[in-house]
This record gives sequence, C-alpha cells and structure tokens, in this order.
Amino acid sequence: MSQYKMWIDGKWVEAESGKTYAVINPATELEVAQVPLGGKVDVDKAVAAARKALPSWSRKSQGERSQIVLKLAALLRENAAEIARLDTLEHGTPVKRAAFLAADTPGWFEWAAYGARSLMGHTIPVSPDTVVYLQREPVGVVAIITPWNLPLLMIFQKLGPALSLGNTCVIKPPSINSLTAIKLAEIIEKLELPPGTVNVVTGPGGSVGEALAAHPGVDMVAFTGSSETGKQIMSLASKTVKRLQLELGGKNPAIILEDADIGVAAAGMAKQQTSNSGQICGSPGRFYVHAKVYDEFLEKFTAEMKKMVMGDPLDPKTELGPLVSAQHRDRVEAYIKSAVDEGAKVILNGKRPTTPPMNKGYYVLPTIITGITPKMKVAREEIFGPVACFMEKFTSDEEVIALANDNVYGLTSWVWTKDMARGMRFANQIQAGTVGLGQGRGGGPEFPWGGYKESGIGKEGSLYGILEFTNLKRVQVDLMPPNK
Ligand code: NDP
Repeated sequence: MSQYKMWIDGKWVEAESGKTYAVINPATELEVAQVPLGGKVDVDKAVAAARKALPSWSRKSQGERSQIVLKLAALLRENAAEIARLDTLEHGTPVKRAAFLAADTPGWFEWAAYGARSLMGHTIPVSPDTVVYLQREPVGVVAIITPWNLPLLMIFQKLGPALSLGNTCVIKPPSINSLTAIKLAEIIEKLELPPGTVNVVTGPGGSVGEALAAHPGVDMVAFTGSSETGKQIMSLASKTVKRLQLELGGKNPAIILEDADIGVAAAGMAKQQTSNSGQICGSPGRFYVHAKVYDEFLEKFTAEMKKMVMGDPLDPKTELGPLVSAQHRDRVEAYIKSAVDEGAKVILNGKRPTTPPMNKGYYVLPTIITGITPKMKVAREEIFGPVACFMEKFTSDEEVIALANDNVYGLTSWVWTKDMARGMRFANQIQAGTVGLGQGRGGGPEFPWGGYKESGIGKEGSLYGILEFTNLKRVQVDLMPPNK
C-alpha cells in the first residue's frame, strides 16, 4: 500500500494535521493508498504560495507559458500507462477506456496552449482624439474543485486554460479519487515552474473545498460537481465576489421521434447510458419515445443494454466497471427502489451481479425502468449510474418539448429524427447547453460545453472556455496633450 503527499509551494508535504485517509479500489473493496487529509491550514498555505507565484508566472511571455503547457501535455502522454493504471485502481475505469482517456485528454493542454497564443485584442473607434483598446489579463489565483467521475479530465479542462493564460492554481481533487491528481503534480514538478504556480491539496469538500471557495486570496473558483455543491460554492464565493465557472448536474432528455432510425438510436443511446458506468453528467437521464415507435425502441435498446460487457476493470473486454464507491452504489440502488415504490417498473436488472468477480466491488447491472411519470423522483433527479429512465409515451412535438424542458437542469439533450428541419425546430426550443440531433455529443476541447439553468454557469472548451480564465480590461487613451 502506498502513502502519498500533497504538492504545495513546490514541495511534497503531509497535511498539517498529520492525518491521512484511505483510497479504496471500487472493484475489490481493498485499500490501495493513504492520502493526506488536508484542511483549512493547508489551504491557507497553498493559496499563499499561489499568490506569491502569480507575478512571475503571469509576467512570462505568452509564448513561454504555452511552451511549458505543451511540455506538460507531452509528459502526460509519456506517463499515460501509469495514469491509466491509477485511474483503474482508484476509479474502476476499465483498462481499455483508461488507456484511451490517458492518451486523449492531454489534448486539453494543447488546445489551451495554442488557443492562448491566438488571442487578439480589439480597439473601439470612439473619436479621433481617443484610443480605446481592450486587453485580456489573468484572473489571478484559481481554485479548481473537481468531481470523481473523470478524475483527470475534469482538472485538465480547467488547468489547461487557467495556466496558459497566466493564472496560478490550487487544485482540490475529489477525495475518493485523488491519486491521479497527485500523479499530475509529480509530472508538474518536472516542469520547474515558479514554486506555488500549481498546488494540489487533498481532503474533503467540507473542509478543503469550502476553505477554497471562501478564501479571500482566491479570485476564481472553477468547479465541476453537483448542483447542490455548486450552490454552496456560489454562496461562499459571494463574500468576495469571485469569478465562477460552474459545470453542474444534468437530467438530460433523449427524445426519439417516430421517423428516427430506431436501430441506430437504440445502439447510440445504450452506449451513452453505460459509458463510465453511467457516471457522466451528460448521460441520458430521461427517455421520451414517440408512441408509434416506443415498443420497437425499447426492445432494441434493451437488447443493446444486455450486450454491454460488465466485469473486472482489468479485463480488456470489460466495457462497464463498478460504480465508484459503496456510498454511490447505495445511492443508485435507492433511486431504483424509489422508482418502484412510486409505481414505475424495472424491466431489466435493477440489482447487483452475483457472479465472481463481481460479487465483490460496487457493481450495479445495466438497468431499465419504465412507466415513469414527471413527478417521480427518478424523473427529476440525477441518478449517475447505468440506469435508463423511460418516461411515458408521447404523441406530439409540443407535448414532448414541454416535458423535456420541465426540469431544473439544462445540460445536454438528444433529438433523434431523420428530418433535420424538424430536429432544428426542436433545437431552437430545448433549454439546454447542447442539443444533439442524432448521436450529437462528441467530446473534446473544440466544443463549448456548459449548462443552462441549474446545470451551471460558463463554458469549458472552445474559445469561450479560454476566455473564462481572463479579465477583460478597457484602456482609454486621451490623445489631447495633457495641458489642454
Ligand atoms: P460533488 O458536488 O459531491 O463534489 C464535487 C467536488 O466538490 C469534490 O471535490 C467534493 O469534495 C467537493 N465538495 C463537496 N462539498 C463541497 C463544499 N461544500 N464546498 C466545496 N467543495 C465541495 O460531486 P460528485 O463528486 O459527487 O460528482 C458528481 C456530480 O458532478 C454530478 O452531479 C455530476 O452531474 C456532476 N458533473 C458535472 C459535469 C459537467 O460538466 N457539468 C461533469 C462531471 C460531473 P469530496 O470529493 O471530498 O466530496
């Protein structure tokens, strides 16, 4: 078993309290490492270090910073095998997927490094005697607080642009999946950045996370996680009016119209439902299927769900691993039970596997629930597991658009139709940051990603995701001589 440290001010340190906590392998339920249990004092140190590093890091030329960020991407790729191993160990990510993520996600640093180098300013033609120009500056010290579901990607999406643009950072990774973030710090150590440019403080959200969100030395909080935590962060950050980027929950509608290619839609949606064992903010949360194709879609979707290979994450054939923790497995099971209690019907699984090796670990089999009505808990709240929720059949476009929008979330959505004009009319009316007409949810830094309503504030990816980490300054120059 390994004992890890935190990375603060360019040094490896224990928590001030001297305490540690265990990281558990969700496939075996065995302890794999001990990690420092950071707290407020550790946050104070990390924020002070990040403030101290800010002048030297932010005053480097854009070219120099971008080169360093590109080197970080290259080093991450060199270390991809070890990163993938840790992802499987602490998160239960199947090895094939873990290898893909480790090789693919450093691209977020390349996007940010090149994107930062291509920013340009503007001038505003006010009058012949006045020059007004706009410039972008770093926001300052950025706290990056992330969830466990994709432990490194969630950090990269924020650290890439924050660092490239000249901000310094304090990262608080998810407590149950901190090992990959500590590995990231080991790689960052090789870059010889000004000490304190990037810090990693491990420990619970209730102490480390809250201390960061409230800290007067933090200028911005870039957060991904649940909407409930996002609201708490907003409230804490309001005391010093911090910049916020919030990527929060989703209960995403998948609408299957009667003219869709049902086989393609069923296969595509089953993949999306089970990706990362359903622990993805952008998973389908509510299926709305037109009455004319409901039975056909459900049959084909069920067949696709049955094909998914659940098993040991170390087996290259495995597509679905365990859920991340016992607590989360219990939460997913409680949602399934609540659906049954409220009158819905489980038509596929809804239980744990019993065959080895899955009789150990936090597995829940791919599940389908039908007969869900809008007021039921599973229609309104995020389950975050391999559980497909089928709402009652619909018959008109107006009806289903209203049903799809009847939720506090607005993250992503799908409309399956062969009639693109009809699909685009849906896209104009759906309240969500992303609408996929068909498969539609390609990831990657080229695309803006972010929610409407309680799904968040701001965007990740694209030029928008870069500008989040800058302040816009107006400089107004009076060309008249000073004595006139
Ligand atoms: P949480 O909101 O529970 O936690 C997210 C992070 O916030 C963790 O690091 C957590 O620490 C920390 N935290 C918890 N409480 C506080 C607090 N009071 N103040 C400051 N920080 C705190 O989310 P989960 O980790 O459970 O992740 C799942 C959620 O993330 C889902 O709702 C999902 O939809 C959302 N998500 C959204 C995405 C998007 O792009 N919109 C992408 C991925 C996930 P600790 O680990 O110690 O609890």
